[in-house]
Amino acid sequence: MPSTDTDYVLHLPDEINYECTGCGKCCGGWSVPMTQDDYERISAVNWGEYDDRYKMQDLFRDLKPYESSGTPYGYAIKEGGDGHCPFLKDNLCFIHSKHGSTFKPSICQLFPYCFNETPSGIYATVSFVSMGVVQNSGKPLTEQRDYLESKLKEFKTLFPDHHPNWSNLKLAVDKPLTWDEYLKIEEEMLSIWAERDKSLDDRFLAISDMLISKFKGASVPPPAKPGPMKALDKNLLVALYKIYFPVKKLGRGEGDFNAGRFAYQTLFEGIFPGLRLKSPTRSYSFEELAKIEFPHDKDVEDLVYRYFRSRIFAKLYFGAGFGQLSLITGFHHLLLTYVLLKENSKIVALSRGAGTVSYVDVVVAVRTLEKRLGETALGGYAAATLELLLFSPGRMRRILANT
Ligand code: SF4
Repeated sequence: MPSTDTDYVLHLPDEINYECTGCGKCCGGWSVPMTQDDYERISAVNWGEYDDRYKMQDLFRDLKPYESSGTPYGYAIKEGGDGHCPFLKDNLCFIHSKHGSTFKPSICQLFPYCFNETPSGIYATVSFVSMGVVQNSGKPLTEQRDYLESKLKEFKTLFPDHHPNWSNLKLAVDKPLTWDEYLKIEEEMLSIWAERDKSLDDRFLAISDMLISKFKGASVPPPAKPGPMKALDKNLLVALYKIYFPVKKLGRGEGDFNAGRFAYQTLFEGIFPGLRLKSPTRSYSFEELAKIEFPHDKDVEDLVYRYFRSRIFAKLYFGAGFGQLSLITGFHHLLLTYVLLKENSKIVALSRGAGTVSYVDVVVAVRTLEKRLGETALGGYAAATLELLLFSPGRMRRILANT
């Protein structure tokens, strides 16, 4: 039974464990954002007095407007030349070791915990950027309630203005949904998602069918066999792939789904054959990637299962949890991120010269996707474009059948 000492209920996900494995991987691959308080506290220290390597080093930078827009951050720690935070020393945080855990940037104090406030309480989960989370290390979150309650208090202190707006909830654009109705639907979604005897593809489709039948008020007839992908299907995947698996490193607010760019791409690139997904060294056609199998072993299936279960439980895929998308569009967008996750795993395997996808390739793809989903924002036009393109269950079926 959840218990708190204030006016909120904290919900914790089943089947998700976490403890830090001390690998240091969370401290790389991004410019750590800082609030004004973080910046004043950390930049006031003469770090060069502790360690010569900080002498003459420019450690901080202002965030650009598109990076800070809609966030509590205004500054960042500059990424080191090796891609890691310069304060990571021997896999330990130098700020933490010199001044204690509460001296670190707010985001590092909270990482990997995420809290999402909703009308029925606060839903917690953990970021799959963390290797501890990926490996499901440690005790279940449900057995760490006291610690998560303390982290939530920190979160509320650090981000007092975090109150997502769930008042505009919709099943589809023209079909409003109450929060209680949503919670019942989510129960059904999670129960279908837990049907381990079905493939992951089939579970995604079964949830999509269930949502569409709620929209239509009647069960969906058995679908016709899906045909090949259309140019628009591929274009959509290419546009989303550029955002979630970019060739060059993108930061917060960079490369968001841009409706104008998408329309241009659809009109001018879509009429030419050969839409491809790019890696830093070459590009791949969908047909080429379809010949490579995505592994169905227990570890891969468990990782993908936990990842998408976590996003659904924490409501990080629709409404105020993601771009104010309607529930059906938000879920279909999640389905497409699953497709792209599979495609990226294959590209990671091919890029390292392997002919088959391993668990490690899938881990790379999951961590990249999680990081980019956290950095991506959807503006009004982009959300409207996705509402238009993603409502189609036929498109989802075609894409899943051909990737
Ligand atoms: S400040 Fe410390 S915890 Fe945060 S990313 Fe850098 S090394 Fe890691």
